[in-house]
Amino acid sequence: HSEARDFTKTKQPNGKIVKNGPKDESRRQKIAQQRKSLPITSVERQLVEEVRKNDTLIIVGETGSGKTTQLPQFLFNAGFCRDGKVIGITQPRRVAAVTVAKRVAEECGVELGQKVGYSIRFEDATSSSTRIKYMTDGLLLREALLDPFLSRYSVVIIDEAHERTVHTDVLLGLLKNVQKTRSQSTSQMSSLEKMKASNGTVLEKDNHAQSQSFQKSYHGTKFSPLKLIIMSASLDARGFSEYFGGARAVHIQGRPYPVDILYTHHAEPDYLEATLITVFQIHLEEGPGDILVFLTGQEEIESVERLVQERVQQLPEGSRNLLVIPMFSSLPSEQQMRAFRPAPSCSRKVILATNIAETSVTIPGIKYVIDPGLVKARSYNPITGMESLIIIPTSKAQALQRSGRAGREGPGKCFRLYPENEFSKLVDSTVPEIKRCNLSNVILQLKALGVDDIIGFDFMEKPSRMAIVKSLEQLYLLGALTDDYKLSDPVGHQMARLPLDPIYSKALILANQFNCLEEMLITVAMLSVESIFYTPREKLEEARAARKCFSSAEGDHLTLVTVYRASAEWLEKVKMANNKDKTAERSLSKWCKENFINNRSLRHARDIHSQIQGHVEQMGFRVASCGDDMLQFRRCLAAAFFLNAALRQPDGSYRALASSQVVQIHPSSVLFRTKPECIIFNELVRTNHNYIRNITRIDPLWLPELAPQYYATQN
Ligand code: ADP
Ligand code: MG
Repeated sequence: HSEARDFTKTKQPNGKIVKNGPKDESRRQKIAQQRKSLPITSVERQLVEEVRKNDTLIIVGETGSGKTTQLPQFLFNAGFCRDGKVIGITQPRRVAAVTVAKRVAEECGVELGQKVGYSIRFEDATSSSTRIKYMTDGLLLREALLDPFLSRYSVVIIDEAHERTVHTDVLLGLLKNVQKTRSQSTSQMSSLEKMKASNGTVLEKDNHAQSQSFQKSYHGTKFSPLKLIIMSASLDARGFSEYFGGARAVHIQGRPYPVDILYTHHAEPDYLEATLITVFQIHLEEGPGDILVFLTGQEEIESVERLVQERVQQLPEGSRNLLVIPMFSSLPSEQQMRAFRPAPSCSRKVILATNIAETSVTIPGIKYVIDPGLVKARSYNPITGMESLIIIPTSKAQALQRSGRAGREGPGKCFRLYPENEFSKLVDSTVPEIKRCNLSNVILQLKALGVDDIIGFDFMEKPSRMAIVKSLEQLYLLGALTDDYKLSDPVGHQMARLPLDPIYSKALILANQFNCLEEMLITVAMLSVESIFYTPREKLEEARAARKCFSSAEGDHLTLVTVYRASAEWLEKVKMANNKDKTAERSLSKWCKENFINNRSLRHARDIHSQIQGHVEQMGFRVASCGDDMLQFRRCLAAAFFLNAALRQPDGSYRALASSQVVQIHPSSVLFRTKPECIIFNELVRTNHNYIRNITRIDPLWLPELAPQYYATQN
């Protein structure tokens, strides 16, 4: 009854009709109050003044102090978006860009995608009226390809700079250049204007000629200076300041509450089990307050999610009020927002998050943090040229950030699932990603932006020469670079346009020639998401049987294609019968459950598929299928992934041809038992073994035929 009243139009005392009901009104008041109490709010005027005075500013502030949500609004209100200019804020993670944009749109009382919007790879929620634009750092890099001077932006804010993602580091270098060029352009323009003013019309003609030639050199654009703001949660602003020629740094004081840190007595042999025990210990023994658990990735989060849900059912009825909420980057955005909603009264939320919850997003209500002390990180071996994901201990800085999450709204507790003496052994801070990843993507983007001298590029922290050379070599072998290391035409340019790893972009370009673009599009989309299959411990046999229906003797790539097609067929059938999108979605998740397919991952893959399809169609490619000719598809895979070929050895292990590394087929591969003589693979996972995943059987003779640039010269 009262629900219905909440949403009717109400007449306010001042006579204005507002669409929102009292519920919305009280929510708006609550938000206004929250904003007023943020530490950043008391320094609004000073901050705006600092931005006016300094072209580059570094802002350091405690997580949750209001940097990400408030500063862009301050600058908007101070007139930084005059002449239709945009304030751009970059985030290392998609989740943060989306959730923060939604929050700020709500704070401003506008519809998302209007004044406030976001743009991330494969998803754009902006319009021509967007003035405050949240985006991933990778996306701003892509925009620079089309608009090298970022002329739409009056302010660019690099947020979460302490994370030092590879994109952040490249952006910092790039923006340093853009800023220089834009301020040169303005100072020259303004001296021209001045001359014109003092000399009246006499010089006008000359002026015109001068300014014409000047403008031409900047592609005919007249620039205003670019304001650059670097925001960081960690305390060390010195590195950033030095890199930007002694740029000014300001600190925003936070008001954190004390957090009790608890350690385990001994090292935990199974940290997931230890996590579960701790969750329930808190739930049953501690006072009210939500729990935040830091895990390493989607697979781990989803398995803990299932286990918590199972064990909750075994609790006495009065204690089952525990709500599990996952939070990781590829989660569909409406599900990401669940973490921010308060738990229903008398129940407790437990949020299972990756390190996105360290600083990127602040979730209200957290009083307890569980930190197993691990993080998934990229790691690159410049000798073999192989990148892999490994699980490593966090740094001290990360551990401190994590525990800090418990003390936002009151005193809290952090449970570190390792002994106290382990803490002192942690490294102080994480090595910047640019020093531990394959650089071929970065190099391709820089080349496309006209930066040819990669070794001479002004990186804040230079990657090793060896890593640069190895990545240049890979790009050359993929045909993206010419003999003198320039971007090749058309392949290099096409590869730079696609928002994918260079090796996947090349696979699509080749598939266009091999007439199997339809299959390759599906493959690339499915390889872009984590774990399509899931295997709950208690239903091992059923899951295996279900997977068998999709298995292809050729390998995992075709298996993924089969899953995708089966799901699409199912969806078609439901839509034909029922014609309602909502029913179809629900029915697809039922289909996923029955077939032990991860519904979230599949949906994400479907999104990615439609986006890449748009890109390749724009490039003039025709999406054709090779039908039943699987040979054609496998040959195309071999031609694309020849750098990841491996040969079986007498003992059943494999030797990767490019690196001579010994690797094993991962047990999840459909080829785990068959062990063909020669294979290509897509992923190297390092645990106690070097496991390879996503594998297809090929003929070794294809390698010298399809990749002569690499295999014909060897032996
Ligand atoms: P900072 O960038 O300094 O870490 P933020 O601007 O992200 O701080 O957040 C400021 C405050 O706004 C947080 O403490 C949180 O309470 C609130 N907030 C941010 N995003 C959301 C959201 N999506 N839903 C609810 N509250 C939010
Ligand atoms: Mg922030």
